[in-house]
Amino acid sequence: MILPALILTTLFLPYQGQAAKTNQPTTVEKQVRAGDTIFSILRRLGFQQSHLSQIIENESLYKRITLIPRQVYFLKESNGKTEVLFLSDLTDRTVTFFKKGDQAGVASEKEDFETEVGRVTGWVRGSLVASIQNIVPSKKLAYRFLDAYVFDYKVQKQLQRNARFHMVFEKKFLDGKLVKYGEVLETGLEIKGDYVVRKFLPFADGGSFVDEQKPFLDRPFFAPVNYVRVSSLYQPYRFHPVKRRRMAHLGMDFELEQGKPIFSVGHGTIVKFGRNRAAGRYVVVKHPNGLTSYYNHMSSVQDFEINQTVSAGALLGTIGCTGYCTKPHLHFAIKKHGKFVDPITYIRPYAFTQRHNVEQLLSKAASDSKSQTAIK
Ligand SMILES: [Zn+2]
Repeated sequence: MILPALILTTLFLPYQGQAAKTNQPTTVEKQVRAGDTIFSILRRLGFQQSHLSQIIENESLYKRITLIPRQVYFLKESNGKTEVLFLSDLTDRTVTFFKKGDQAGVASEKEDFETEVGRVTGWVRGSLVASIQNIVPSKKLAYRFLDAYVFDYKVQKQLQRNARFHMVFEKKFLDGKLVKYGEVLETGLEIKGDYVVRKFLPFADGGSFVDEQKPFLDRPFFAPVNYVRVSSLYQPYRFHPVKRRRMAHLGMDFELEQGKPIFSVGHGTIVKFGRNRAAGRYVVVKHPNGLTSYYNHMSSVQDFEINQTVSAGALLGTIGCTGYCTKPHLHFAIKKHGKFVDPITYIRPYAFTQRHNVEQLLSKAASDSKSQTAIK
């Protein structure tokens, strides 16, 4: 009878040891409630009016936080200091509100989380997005996975039941607690009998999934943004989230942080720019190959003149949410002979400004395969 008791004690000891430690910061996960504002959250967590008036002095640091019901934020308490931490899926910056005694403030910092790399393998049962989320509970990662294939596959149509997949991704920890998923670093997916692997290539201020076997050099245009994250594709019919009715989506959406640069996808002339109710601030560029490119919902547009020439990669303006828009993004479209076409088949998965990074990768891959052949 003594032996089982001894085992139990040994098993429980480590937990008792942890609980006994004092002054250890405790990090608690919280969720945004419907109707919440930053200030309603802070009041609920014990911030007084005098704290809030100190915080409002630095409004520029937190005015870009968008609150979505059930979004997660973190409450950290140690040595009488209260910190409320907001993370963003789109940036690696955190915003922290804090108070200690009468003092309060807000700080925006680059994330300082411990990162671990995770790897999962699975088989598609039902939709790909659902199959990924069954293994890793992250909508963000599941949709990010699709970005790796969106430029050359119609994954929804071409995927077979029981197709194999794998994903390598970042997990971020704060005080030993998983607080966020980072970038998808590698994907693999069985499509029509081939196992297609894609690697994430990070650029300064961006990155994209680039396949060294498939650089898309034959495509006429480059991507209009540095960080290539596609939130909506060209669809002849879809339910419009703002107008709440079915209507065509005649372009594709890139989801990015407000203020990020938007580039001309190719050489051309500015034929139109301005602001209207639906498109918000927009620019239209006519290209010599008979194609015209459209850029909508911008927060700012460069100071152009009509018929002004722009080169490939020229700055057109910045990401915003003007016009019919619920979240900062770029609506990008292409017209061919006056008709909208699916833009994703005309652009490469990287911006003109990043072409040297991609060329470097390609020449490295070419020399690697040469030296491998030489060894054989
Ligand atoms: Zn759109």
